[in-house]
Amino acid sequence: MKENYDVIVVGAGPAGSMAARFAAEKGVSVLMLEKDRDVGYPVRCGEAVSKTSLEKFITPDERWINARTNKLSFIAPNDKEVTIEFKETAYILERRIFDYELAKTAVAKGAEVLTRAYVNGLLFADGKVSGVKYEHRGEQKNASAKIVIAADGVESRVGRWAGLKTCVDFREMESCYQVTATGLELNDETCYFYFGRETAPEGYLWVFPKGNNSANIGIGISGLSGKKKSAQKYLDEFLAKKYPGVSALTAIAGGVPCSITLEKLTAPGIMLAGDAARQVNPLSGGGIASGMTGGSIAGRIAAEAIKKNDLTYISSYENEWREKVGKRHEIYDRIKNGIYGFKDEKFNSLAESFLKVPFEKRSLNQLFKAALINNPGLLLDIAKVFIGR
Ligand SMILES: Cc1cc2nc3c(=O)[nH]c(=O)nc-3n(C[C@H](O)[C@H](O)[C@H](O)COP(=O)(O)OP(=O)(O)OC[C@H]3O[C@@H](n4cnc5c(N)ncnc54)[C@H](O)[C@@H]3O)c2cc1C
Repeated sequence: MKENYDVIVVGAGPAGSMAARFAAEKGVSVLMLEKDRDVGYPVRCGEAVSKTSLEKFITPDERWINARTNKLSFIAPNDKEVTIEFKETAYILERRIFDYELAKTAVAKGAEVLTRAYVNGLLFADGKVSGVKYEHRGEQKNASAKIVIAADGVESRVGRWAGLKTCVDFREMESCYQVTATGLELNDETCYFYFGRETAPEGYLWVFPKGNNSANIGIGISGLSGKKKSAQKYLDEFLAKKYPGVSALTAIAGGVPCSITLEKLTAPGIMLAGDAARQVNPLSGGGIASGMTGGSIAGRIAAEAIKKNDLTYISSYENEWREKVGKRHEIYDRIKNGIYGFKDEKFNSLAESFLKVPFEKRSLNQLFKAALINNPGLLLDIAKVFIGR
């Protein structure tokens, strides 16, 4: 490894790999540092992502697609199930392979990757971030860079070291627990979402099929609810009731920042991307595609700033992100807050009335409209999100 790079990316998740790739393809030198031994492992994800959003960045490959789904089933507390069919396909990925392949696309464009490289501090010079301190195989090292891109995930500390405000309100940090279970009878074309106070307060519980009688079964509840009873306890109860005796091959816990994106994504010499920047879709909790988008914009703008010899140019990242995705996330956040307070009776009556809509006429747009009919402000938001889709 050299000691000087144009760009150093911290974290080799989807956001980091895209940042590294989009910077490297503009011809600047890039180093991506990953603390774990393997890129893509451990996996802390339900692995669902829309086909369209993914195809902007990578050609689908059977090696990392476990299942293709085109139906969503919403299950109310009274067990009434509403299924909606989509033209759009969602993939359930094998992220161990997917993340690895994304990192390879960055290397193919000229980026260098170093695993087992734990970034534990920043270097500063002339009032700006000028590189990172990291530990690799027991040795403490420094590497300098014109720009550091922090894509170090939900527990990000790098942004904070640079003085950026990265904390998320406790209520907006969804507390998640998930098992990958096998030995299940499932419809592999459907993703299931369970709602209700007893099942997943201020959040939802998901069952995403992975093919071969396996599924990611997980739950995300608000940090506040998780304080009273843990996400793991809710999931254990669900599994005991719905899938007794099922074998869980892996179990993971983690947080998802279901908030709007941070106000400031840059400081002199540093940019944040992915979960570290809170670029997750606050309604669904999905952060793979939006993190890739954030990373790709950050990487390209970092390289452009270096080529222009004007590092202040990195601040244009904030506007571009907001225009392309951030504004939409603000709307999703308002819709999420509208739905969060629902009582079980509301979910039940919604399911019952929606079941009367013929299957072929159901859409997500209509479902949200029905849910938020008493909230005209949000109806306008829903129209903004869904019109033209
Ligand atoms: C239970 C659960 C289920 C989820 N399900 C879905 C889903 O179905 N669909 C979806 O789209 N999203 C889902 N998400 C969210 C999704 O996993 C994240 O939004 C996505 O991984 C964000 O990508 P990222 O690159 O920003 O961060 P990450 O994927 O977290 O990558 C960050 C990387 O940085 C590395 N790193 C951290 N600190 C350092 C350091 N100091 N030095 C070096 N390296 C460092 C980490 O090891 C990691 O590899 C889920 C999350 C959870 C917790």
